[in-house]
Amino acid sequence: MREPITPAAFDGAAMLAQVEAWSAINTGTANLPGLARQAAALAEAFGGLQGTVELVDPAPVTAIGADGAAFDKPHGKHLVVRVRPQSNRRILLTGHMDTVFPVEHAFQHQRWLDAETLNGPGVADMKGGIAVMLHALLAFEQTASASSLGYDVLINSDEETGSLASAALIAQLAAGKLAALTYEPAALPDGTLAHERGGTGNYSITFTGRSAHAGRNPHEGRNAIVAAADLILRLQERISAFLSEPLEWHPTLPKDGADDVRIQAVDAIRREVNKRLHDLSRRRIIEEQLSGWVEAYELKGTGSTRVRAKELVGLYESAAPVPNEMPGPDANEFLFELRELVAKSIQDGGGDIRGRKREPLALPE
Ligand SMILES: [Zn+2]
Repeated sequence: MREPITPAAFDGAAMLAQVEAWSAINTGTANLPGLARQAAALAEAFGGLQGTVELVDPAPVTAIGADGAAFDKPHGKHLVVRVRPQSNRRILLTGHMDTVFPVEHAFQHQRWLDAETLNGPGVADMKGGIAVMLHALLAFEQTASASSLGYDVLINSDEETGSLASAALIAQLAAGKLAALTYEPAALPDGTLAHERGGTGNYSITFTGRSAHAGRNPHEGRNAIVAAADLILRLQERISAFLSEPLEWHPTLPKDGADDVRIQAVDAIRREVNKRLHDLSRRRIIEEQLSGWVEAYELKGTGSTRVRAKELVGLYESAAPVPNEMPGPDANEFLFELRELVAKSIQDGGGDIRGRKREPLALPE
């Protein structure tokens, strides 16, 4: 027999109070003290479920630093709650306590956007989701059906950086379960459930620079021109792919020889792009960083190769910053410059642009 769970079973005020209290704790994935406080708060809240509550040590994770050296990357503990582990029918419920906002990020406080909408770090992704999970379970525990279903809850501390310290734990807890549910925000504003999401893969590739005499053994050296050429090639590849898919053709492509027309038109723009890319790359990698290159190559003595490699990585990063989920002003400036370059090339190559705004990209809140 099934008894419905009604809205009366939920304590909305308690849910809100929890989300507000949890959002006030900074839990950027690298903030271990914040994660420890959050884990303690969650352990207390999930203690209301009459199961066992455990804080599990993170699995060791090796990462590669900007200097190319491997180091142990610390992580926070994960929360595991087990209710009726002896039950034949068991499910897994998952969530994460970390957020993408580190301690030094500007977004630390909550505010009401309107009478119904709270905005704050982790409110939607996913401390709010954790409150929904917890209170659904508390309501479920009040029903007679509860005795026939067991479940594990896992709240990991490192989801935002790829769950490297919890992947094995997730796999272990998922084994033998009938189903698994996670409490990420909905896929659409109307509440549509997200059934699946694309995953990510993280790769570290270490390049080590090498000094050599220009006359005696140049083939043994590694220099700035290579970095500049590499940047041009990579950008060319990406921009080229973008240029091959214009929104539409004016006039429409002829029936005969459409491919020739298409190739000619895009090539004209590509040539404009390539001209400008050489200038941009030379300026960003070599001219603007010239004193840095000279300094790096003048390093001498024991350990200088390593220090030099580190300095060269720094030079490349400031010349062509890689935008991540929270691009800084340098990455934004670089993207803006690239966008302007592509826009100019399209116009000079005989193309047309739509929906282009002239302002630099806005920084995220
Ligand atoms: Zn999330």
